[in-house]
Amino acid sequence: MSLNLFPPTRAEATARLAAFLPHAGKSYAKLRNHDPGPDAPAHVSRLSPYVRHRVVTEAELVRAAVDRHGEGPAEKFIQEVFWRTYWKGWLELRPGVWDDYCAAREAARAQAGGNASLAGRLASAEGARTGIDCFDHWVRELTGTGYLHNHARMWFASIWIFTLKLPWELGADFFLRHLLDGDPASNTLSWRWVGGLQTRGKTYLARADNIAAHTGERFNPQGQLAQEALPLDGPLPPVPRPISPGPRLGKDGGRTGLLVFDDDVDVQCLSDRVAPVAVAAASSAALRSDVPVSGQVQDFVAAVLDDSLSRLSVPGARLRDQVMVPHGIDEAVRDWARDHALDRVVARHVPVGPGRELADRIARALAQDGISFVQEMRAYDARAWPLATKGFFPFRKHIPDLTAALGASD
Ligand SMILES: Cc1cc2nc3c(=O)[nH]c(=O)nc-3n(C[C@H](O)[C@H](O)[C@H](O)COP(=O)(O)OP(=O)(O)OC[C@H]3O[C@@H](n4cnc5c(N)ncnc54)[C@H](O)[C@@H]3O)c2cc1C
Repeated sequence: MSLNLFPPTRAEATARLAAFLPHAGKSYAKLRNHDPGPDAPAHVSRLSPYVRHRVVTEAELVRAAVDRHGEGPAEKFIQEVFWRTYWKGWLELRPGVWDDYCAAREAARAQAGGNASLAGRLASAEGARTGIDCFDHWVRELTGTGYLHNHARMWFASIWIFTLKLPWELGADFFLRHLLDGDPASNTLSWRWVGGLQTRGKTYLARADNIAAHTGERFNPQGQLAQEALPLDGPLPPVPRPISPGPRLGKDGGRTGLLVFDDDVDVQCLSDRVAPVAVAAASSAALRSDVPVSGQVQDFVAAVLDDSLSRLSVPGARLRDQVMVPHGIDEAVRDWARDHALDRVVARHVPVGPGRELADRIARALAQDGISFVQEMRAYDARAWPLATKGFFPFRKHIPDLTAALGASD
């Protein structure tokens, strides 16, 4: 496996953003739904593996698009970036939806273990042996490159749920194990949306003519796809909980260690404010699933964390040159904190998902030594996430204000 298509560095991410910017205006709005395939130039940015880990931030993307095109012509691109922000906020306000997904994923896997027909259909889907050419191609593209075009993700999820009649949670899990941008919010909630659980009763049906038209006739699965998409059954989402941005951190907490998580590797600003004496990184990639996550994803995440540490300038601090992984992390993080006689450990706010699971474990391990673990929410997240109480359309009304409010620390 290789990361040739997505070199895991900020230098690559910023070069990619610069190369894409001329196309982020009207041509993006017109062509973004076309998927020419992995070997042809894309009409979309293919920046998501970087944005997912904040190698580049949403704020940087929005600002760059506005500077280049103005808000009007860049409206569609800006809106798509805010879809990511909206999904993050929506899940942050309803963490139980992630827990329910994890429980249902494990139940579905157990069910497949005891049902030969389901297990066989699952194996042929994951093994690219369904006989539906486009679907089998997307399985190979996903596992080979770690990326799929948004429209291909929609068709894929729809075929998985309505044609192959497989549990949606195992499809979402297959994505999370293989996508370099695998994200607990965008992924879980998009799968729920396709299945009719997110916008209640509204499903997404993949159609052969739509696939043919938007893949330049590379595929045309006439007669192979389900003709209807009845909404899946599930409980109503919980009422949103309030979230608070927490304290804005300064230098006044004693000997400080900075911990960089893979949800947000952009920590220079925070580091400048808290003046850490030690810095370390923690990867939650292996926790994206209850079964092994692809080596490509784990390598990519480890490498973006390494790149983040190597770019960080922290006078006098000792950088840990190795990225800590969930196995044995409780001891590793306590050893690190003891080695540096830390009074507190600080991190960027770790959002709901595998990162939060890891952060909670780390907080418990540090508490045993009386060391506090404090997370700080970015101003961008603190402004936008509480607005994700309803659907995207009410949220969208806030985009002009959220764009106008962008500042240097976002
Ligand atoms: C079933 C399904 C599963 C998905 N799983 C993930 C996932 O695990 N992680 C993930 O980051 N995205 C996910 N998406 C959203 C979307 O497909 C990807 O973010 C997008 O394809 C990224 O490609 P790009 O960077 O070329 O996007 P561009 O079109 O260039 O968009 C720029 C940026 O905007 C954001 N964005 C664009 N479209 C969306 C969208 N529909 N939802 C959320 N953010 C968006 C991304 O950060 C992206 O990098 C999923 C969509 C579906 C339908």
